[in-house]
Amino acid sequence: MKLAVLPGDGIGPEIVAQAVKVLNVLKSDGMKIEMEQAAIGGAGYEAAGDPLPEATFKLAQEADAVLLGAVGDWKYDSLPRDVRPERGLLRIRKGLGLFANLRPALLYPELASASTLKPEVVSGLDLMIVRELTGDIYFGQPRGIATLDNGEREGVNTMRYNESEIRRIGRIAFDIAMKRNKKVCSVDKANVLETTELWRQVMIELAKDYPEVELSHMYVDNAAMQLVRAPKQFDVMVTGNIFGDILSDEASMLTGSIGMLPSASLDEHNKGMYEPSHGSAPDIAGKDVANPLATILSVAMMFKYTFNDEAASNRIDKAVKTVIAQGHRTADIWTEGCNKVSCSQMGDAVVAAM
Ligand code: NAD
Repeated sequence: MKLAVLPGDGIGPEIVAQAVKVLNVLKSDGMKIEMEQAAIGGAGYEAAGDPLPEATFKLAQEADAVLLGAVGDWKYDSLPRDVRPERGLLRIRKGLGLFANLRPALLYPELASASTLKPEVVSGLDLMIVRELTGDIYFGQPRGIATLDNGEREGVNTMRYNESEIRRIGRIAFDIAMKRNKKVCSVDKANVLETTELWRQVMIELAKDYPEVELSHMYVDNAAMQLVRAPKQFDVMVTGNIFGDILSDEASMLTGSIGMLPSASLDEHNKGMYEPSHGSAPDIAGKDVANPLATILSVAMMFKYTFNDEAASNRIDKAVKTVIAQGHRTADIWTEGCNKVSCSQMGDAVVAAM
């Protein structure tokens, strides 16, 4: 297994170091894992004047999977858009053809009080959001800001999906549902947007290949509401890039702890990039207080989705459950009576639990 390890900026290096400790446990147990590090984001800009240096992209292309920390820092906000850290992220996703973004929102019973919602609404929540990542209004042409004949400026973006793009993300969602509770909710705005009318048609066609899966449809405005009203009604939610961007952030906050949420972005062959759902948290960088569990859980997803090794994946998941049950908490999820630990101590606790 060849892994490209891209720590990135802010808390990225601290949290990735903990995930590497976990990988080293598997390695010392005999797994053949090769890891090589490279710079991305602001670190890439500092090293090579590019948020995605050529050498980093090459390493990622040649690897079986990529482990990423996070990118971004306020100090880069004044740079031209093309060399800002976030560009590196968009380019690596697009360049590797990572079209499927998987974001689980899972609430550990011990952390139910961390949510801003009532415990009975969220406790036991186990939802998977499948978001299309390389199409939609974020990439559609034409786009830009132009000046009209009358001198007024106009901004344009184009929502666009073709059938095959919809079908391949739909297939990922149905396949995942088959391994879970066999329910897919497809989110669209088919009442006003033709692009998503096509989205709905393709999902209905695809459902014929999965007779065991129950397919439902929901308009995005209702989905946003239902996620805070009764989130446990969902098993797998599948949606386009822009709706998924917003809904997956909303879903992550149901759990109250962004530091706990992993993510995977997959290509057609299940090669993937694995990263926490949160950003680089520059406000707490370098203090050894960040929560590394989202990154460690991203490694668990890597074994499940890229390496098809459920045993390794479950071993990591179980170790995380154990440290939570033991009462270890980083500052973001700490409550009275629990054992407050640093980022590196949390990594050590997971290693011990493994
Ligand atoms: P953020 O997710 O970095 O931080 C939001 C809040 O959550 C902060 O208070 C932070 O301290 C806290 N937080 C985040 N992760 C944490 C962790 N593991 N443990 C404890 N607390 C944690 O979002 P932001 O502040 O909006 O953005 C900061 C930078 O990150 C920006 O430059 C932004 O562009 C970038 N960003 C990167 C990604 C990514 O790399 N995928 C995603 C989102 C934002």
